[in-house]
Order: sequence, then C-alpha cells, then structure tokens
Amino acid sequence: VNVARTKFVCGNWKMHKTVAESVALVKELAAGLGAAAGKVQVAVAPPFTAIHAVAQALAGSAVEVSGQDVFWEVQGAFTGELSAGMLAEAGCKHGIVGHSERRQFFGETDETVNKKTAALLKAGLAPIVCVGELLAEREAGKTLAVVDRQVRQGLAGLTAEQMGKITIAYEPVWAIGTGKTATTAQAQEVHAAIRKILRELGGAVADAMRIQYGGSVKPDNARELMSQPDVDGALVGGASLKAPDFLAIVKGALP
Ligand code: PEP
Repeated sequence: VNVARTKFVCGNWKMHKTVAESVALVKELAAGLGAAAGKVQVAVAPPFTAIHAVAQALAGSAVEVSGQDVFWEVQGAFTGELSAGMLAEAGCKHGIVGHSERRQFFGETDETVNKKTAALLKAGLAPIVCVGELLAEREAGKTLAVVDRQVRQGLAGLTAEQMGKITIAYEPVWAIGTGKTATTAQAQEVHAAIRKILRELGGAVADAMRIQYGGSVKPDNARELMSQPDVDGALVGGASLKAPDFLAIVKGALP
C-alpha cells in the first residue's frame, strides 16, 4: 500500500540554548519556512526551561514544540521530573522518548520507554520513540534484532489507534553526533524492517506512521535520506541549532 505520509522533521536541541537564544532561533525558523510551511511537519525540542517561551513565540506559526523526555507519572514526589500534562500545558504537542543519550546516561530501558509513550498518549501528546543499534551491535549483525526488540517493547500494549499517533525515530547510535551518517541503503533497510514490525503490531496503521531517520543529518545529506520510500523525515541534533542549516534540512523534505 502506498500512503502519502507528510514528512516530519524535528530538531532536538539537547542541552543547548538559553531562553533568549531559543526564542531568537524559533523566530528565525518560523520566518524562514517558506514553501515548506504546511507541507512539512516541523517541530523543535528545546531544553525544558525554554519550552514555554518557545511555544509562545511560535503561536500561530507552523512550527510545533516537543519535549526531549518525560516522566510517566501524572504528579507526585518525583524530584526533577516533568509529567506529560505539564509538557502539554507548556505548549508541547510532541515528546521524545528513548533517545540513545537517555538510554546511555540516564538508565532509560525499553520498559521505561513503554511507560513514557503511554503517558504521552494519555495526555494527548504525540510520542517520538527513538530506537537504534550501537556500533558493536551493528558489527555483530544484530541491528535488526535490537531494533525489533526496542520497537516491540517500546510499543507494547498499545492499540492500533494509539500507534497511529506515534513517530518512530531510527537513530543508529554510531551515527549520532559523530558526523557518520548511515547510507541511504542502510537507513532504508532498517526503516522497511521497522515498518514490517509496525504492520505486525498494528496492521494498516503502519502505512500511515512516520519513521524518521536520525544521526548526523545535515543540509547536504537530508534530501537523499528522506527520498527513500520508508524514510519519512528526520530527527536532527547538531544541525538543528542553526536556523539556516535546520531550514535547509526541512526544505530537503519537499518533493
Ligand atoms: C540526535 O541526537 O537525535 C541526533 C540525530 O543528533 P545529531 O544530528 O547531532 O547526530
């Protein structure tokens, strides 16, 4: 089945940008979308401190806001954490979960990814669920097995309708922040495998779900990556911190 999926490009700012810098950057983004406005779905994930100001600066624009992480409880004694409802109130429409840096440095597991995904959905936010293999796993021929486990466990227990609200981000860990990008063939192979798993889990909804590629996406490789049949956008780290680069990547998603 060939369903037209709107391409979705999200910038993950990680631990970068003050509030003032964040607002200045999104104003440049909103003003520079040009032909991509309304044709490519665009979001940014600022640090938590800047989310509210960014959402206010983007009111009425086509650029949406995402959290970089979330906690799964609604409220309570969880020092340092934020709920999905808090993200929604601050202006988020999306939430990233399972980023490899959360998995590597902050104890994120497939089980916590699953709880966070469910919590986002419950609060009306659209999850971006990150999966991807380590270099050693790729070299050992385990890429598809790792991604299979991460997708199945991350999405466990969700209905097809809930799955339809989710974006998967395939981010080979060896490509994140390293300047090494997966080849288009490597990306397409894993994206197609992910879509097959999504079909097993949710049936026809899989054809409408976006699968982003992430890992050193830059203006000069974005278009080719996103031209692959199962690459429906990009999750962009470093190159999302400068408006001209991020805008060029967004425009690379136009036909
Ligand atoms: C990321 O962390 O999601 C990412 C893809 O980073 P970069 O683009 O910097 O490799």
